[in-house]
Amino acid sequence: MKEKEARAEMQYYERNLRKEPKKRPDPRYEIIGARTHVPPGLAPSRAPVAICKRHWPNKKVPSRCERCKVVKRLLQPVLPCVFFNQFRARVLAEDDGAERVPDGQGGFIPVFDTIVFDTANEGGLRPLLKTSLGPATPIEIVAMALDTNNDYWINYSRYWGKLSLVWCRYQPSSDFMDRWEVLKETESHWARLEDIVGSCFVIECTRSEFKDRLKRKLLPKSSDVFFTRDNFSAAFWEGKQQRRERRQRMRSEAAAAVESKLQRQDS
Ligand SMILES: [Zn+2]
Repeated sequence: MKEKEARAEMQYYERNLRKEPKKRPDPRYEIIGARTHVPPGLAPSRAPVAICKRHWPNKKVPSRCERCKVVKRLLQPVLPCVFFNQFRARVLAEDDGAERVPDGQGGFIPVFDTIVFDTANEGGLRPLLKTSLGPATPIEIVAMALDTNNDYWINYSRYWGKLSLVWCRYQPSSDFMDRWEVLKETESHWARLEDIVGSCFVIECTRSEFKDRLKRKLLPKSSDVFFTRDNFSAAFWEGKQQRRERRQRMRSEAAAAVESKLQRQDS
C-alpha cells in the first residue's frame, strides 16, 4: 500500500475511531511473538481483507456504492488490524475422567486448558472450530488478526470428514479411511477466535504411513486424531448442495401451500 493511503487511514482512525471508548480484547487470548500492522503492512495473500478500492481508505462512503455495501456486510476483521502468527488460548478442557468440582447450581466449575496455536501448524495440533459443518470442525489456521474494534479473528480452512463429504455428494478416493481421514478445503474463511471450542490432531502423511503409525500405536493420545493427504475445492460442492437444498425447500413450501389451499376449498 502507498504511504499516502496508509497516512490517510491513520488520520481517519485518529479522528473518528479513537474517540469511542475501546473495549478490552478478550482476556482468554494472548498474542505471542511478532506482530504486523496492516496497514502499512499487507495481509497474508491467503487471508485477504476485502475493501472497496474506490472508496478506501478515504472512508467517504457514498450510499449508492454496491461494493461498499457488500464489504460492510462481510464477516471479516475491520482495518486497521494487527496480524500475528502465534497465540495462547484458554479453551474448555476435555473431560478426561478426573473428578469435577460442582458449581453449586447443578453444573460443574469449568476447567480450562492453555493451548498455543500457531499459523505454522507444526506437530499436527489444530483447533476445533464451530463452523457451518458442525459444532467442532478441525481446521488449519491460515492467519490471525486483532482488528480496530479489539475483536480477535481467525482465518481458516476446514478439514472435511466422511459425513460432510457425503452431505455435499463429493466422492473421495476409493481407499478413503472413513474413521480417520479428512480432506482439506482449498478455500479459507474468517471467523471470530471465540468460535474455537477445543483442539485436535491432524497428521499430514500418506495412507500407508498413517496405517503404520496406527499399528505401532504412535498416535497422539487424544480422542480427536485425523490424518490428511489431499485437498479439494469445497466451495464448488458446498454451493451446489446448498442450491439443491434451497430448491427442495421451495418445492416443499409450494406443495404445502397448494395442500392448504385444497383443504380450504374442501371445507
Ligand atoms: Zn465503494
